[in-house]
Amino acid sequence: MENLVIIGHGPAGLTAAIYAARAGLSPLVLHSSSELGQLDQTTDVENFPGFPEGIMGPDIIKDMHKQAERFGTNFKMTHVRSIDGDSPFTLAVDDGEIQARSIILATGARPRRLGLDSESKYWGNGVSACAVCDGFFYREKEILVIGGGDSACEEATFLTKFASKVYMIHRRDELRASKIMARRALDNPKIEIVWNSVLDEVLGNVSDGVTGARLKCLLTSQTQDLPVTGVFLAIGHIPNTSPFQGVVEMDDEGYVVIEEGSTRTSKNGIFAAGDLHDKNYRQAVTAAGFGCMAALDAERFLSHQG
Ligand code: NAP
Repeated sequence: MENLVIIGHGPAGLTAAIYAARAGLSPLVLHSSSELGQLDQTTDVENFPGFPEGIMGPDIIKDMHKQAERFGTNFKMTHVRSIDGDSPFTLAVDDGEIQARSIILATGARPRRLGLDSESKYWGNGVSACAVCDGFFYREKEILVIGGGDSACEEATFLTKFASKVYMIHRRDELRASKIMARRALDNPKIEIVWNSVLDEVLGNVSDGVTGARLKCLLTSQTQDLPVTGVFLAIGHIPNTSPFQGVVEMDDEGYVVIEEGSTRTSKNGIFAAGDLHDKNYRQAVTAAGFGCMAALDAERFLSHQG
């Protein structure tokens, strides 16, 4: 019987593990080998406090893992298939079952992708889904943002602080974004919107990374190449919550619903931390903060249970 099982190996899950381990709970972190988290797929991270020279995303994860291990966290590489019952819960994993008095869900979210080979080839090396993380690298460069929602407008507007020009491409002739966000993008002289168009191919080479983007107009099927060095996807995120469907309450998009001001889910004894419930901030540092909160909430839950 485990006191606390944490599902997820990103900043939320590992911060929860550090706190829970230091509180003497000997948590067990479950993580799958094949699905890398968002930080594991990032290169330079320059906005995580404490690293004045920046740090590589995978290195932060390795260090958080070591820190959690040092205080007595156990790790198991396995895929969680389902969670049953009330505390103590039964988790079905690849090689059997695990019993746990409490659980922290920290499986994160993944940016929606277009599915192009060239998008995968340059992912983390010119193609990104986080303007806040990577915008800084595009000072005085031309870049492309894909999408027509609030995220696309927000990211395009944010990126004009660095870029000399931001192209925004949208597959329709009308933005989905709220009026105020759309207006901000439409009125920005550094943003040019290319309507009714999709990304056909990311252009580049191994030494220079991204050197351009080939767009295709959906009305004429004609293509055009833009001389951009960065491509930002803002076509939504998908929370990694499918094994928890029917276990805890979720919204229409599959994000876990938590009680305001805490990390408690609708199921007593199950807590959630990070991008699987947070649509607004989606930063490594905010996920880590939620991880800390979830560990404190789980500890309180376990002490009430005696
Ligand atoms: P979203 O509202 O779902 O918009 C996604 C955009 O990507 C849409 O314009 C969609 O086109 C486009 N898209 C989706 N799949 C595509 C594909 N395969 N190829 C090309 N384009 C594709 O997602 P979001 O902008 O990330 O926003 C998510 C939620 O967070 C929303 O509720 C939003 O209001 C909220 N949000 C709020 C703020 C804020 O208030 N500050 C900031 C960001 C996000 P179509 O329009 O044609 O479907």
